[in-house]
Amino acid sequence: MRRIDGIVIHRCESGNNAEQVKAAESARGFGYHLFVTRDGRVERMYDDDAAPWHALHWSPYTIAIAVYGDFVAADKSRNHTPTDAQLAACVTLCAELVEKYTTSKGSPWIAGHTELKRATTDPSKVCPGERFPMAWLRAKVGQRMSVLRAFGTPPSELSPPENLPRVKPSA
Ligand SMILES: [Zn+2]
Repeated sequence: MRRIDGIVIHRCESGNNAEQVKAAESARGFGYHLFVTRDGRVERMYDDDAAPWHALHWSPYTIAIAVYGDFVAADKSRNHTPTDAQLAACVTLCAELVEKYTTSKGSPWIAGHTELKRATTDPSKVCPGERFPMAWLRAKVGQRMSVLRAFGTPPSELSPPENLPRVKPSA
């Protein structure tokens, strides 16, 4: 298994689905492991063990998640905000990845692409952009992890005992 130190969030508009994005990005020598569509579907482009080039020298030790949209505040032509479905998908995905890649040495960090130093050759690049709430995402993933630690299974995936008496309105 590849060493994973962190998870990197990108914005991406080179296609509407993983297949289109993979084709467009690989032609330029880039790639992401996972793609989150505008309606919050998660599509896989590369296995975790592959190391596509997405954040210069950080690439060999990270998992790349590309979120469809342009979240850069200065870009007035589009200025997307991530949809609720995209944010929910990112929380679930990051929690699963942090859980999967936590070792005795610690847990992977979660960073926006240009939060990392020397992660792009373009000094003006902003990724995923100010409209993508990185601090909120990290906090939500932390909350999700503590629920998982405390209860094992997320409450939404539990079903009540079959013979649990049902409450009836009294006459
Ligand atoms: Zn990026």
